[in-house]
Amino acid sequence: MAENELTVRNAVVTGASRGIGRAISVALASSGCNVLINYAGNAAAAEEAAALCREAAGEKEIQVLVYQADVSDEAQANALIDYAEEQFGRIDILVNNAGRTKDGLVIGMKTEDFDSVIDLNLKGTFFCCRAAAKKMIRKRFGRIINISSVVGIHGNAGQVNYSASKAGVIGMTKSLAKELAGRNVTVNAVAPGFIETDMTAVLPDKAKEAILAGIPMKKGGSPEDVANAVRFFASDAASYITGQVIGVDGGMGM
Ligand code: NAP
Repeated sequence: MAENELTVRNAVVTGASRGIGRAISVALASSGCNVLINYAGNAAAAEEAAALCREAAGEKEIQVLVYQADVSDEAQANALIDYAEEQFGRIDILVNNAGRTKDGLVIGMKTEDFDSVIDLNLKGTFFCCRAAAKKMIRKRFGRIINISSVVGIHGNAGQVNYSASKAGVIGMTKSLAKELAGRNVTVNAVAPGFIETDMTAVLPDKAKEAILAGIPMKKGGSPEDVANAVRFFASDAASYITGQVIGVDGGMGM
């Protein structure tokens, strides 16, 4: 088996019905992983993602599950991780991808818009990490991959809430990596730049043009670009890598 292949493993991907989470699920499925697709409300998109996973697996026999849960809710996040373990027998890979934006300049930012972004992007990641870490420690194996953002490293006007949540994800990743390293559980983060998904489709054309002009590679990335980095962290080739952040950003993070 090539080093960047995955032995059959069980993966949970949060926010996997659309965008980057969907591409991550498809990439893991194509490598022969069993995949649980978590979503918040869009059941049709989640079923579509599941069908794409089955197609990507081809001849490989994999299990694809779909599970609705709002991971910003502690009880629902715990139930998601418990369900995955019940169904798969164990969880080997957790990808914390679910996220939202509620942009605005700080002077007009409502407290509920700050909280809502922190609740999903940071606390949701914490809830899933905590629940899965307990199970991974027992099995002495795990790969946790958190989706941060280039703005968690460099900041961005209009995204005080979002950049704080994504910077928090990086701090959490490094601290958790230190806690779990001795148990053969690696924890890494991917920090995407501008990726074409529903999240960025809502930006006004002028804002998009300004962002694209500031990217050294002069183009946006695809969800598959991010999925490739996640797949690497999940693979045997990355077994001695922990506490790291890979930028997938066309050079934005330089
Ligand atoms: P997206 O297209 O808006 O998709 C969001 C996904 O998250 C959907 O599957 C959605 O499910 C799910 N979700 C939303 N709220 C949830 C909740 N409370 N619990 C569980 N799942 C929930 O977003 P994306 O662009 O793919 O972004 C994915 C991740 O990458 C996010 O963490 C984002 O911050 C990060 N990121 C994105 C970019 C970018 O340029 N796009 C850049 C840097 C970082 P439903 O379909 O059910 O609504």
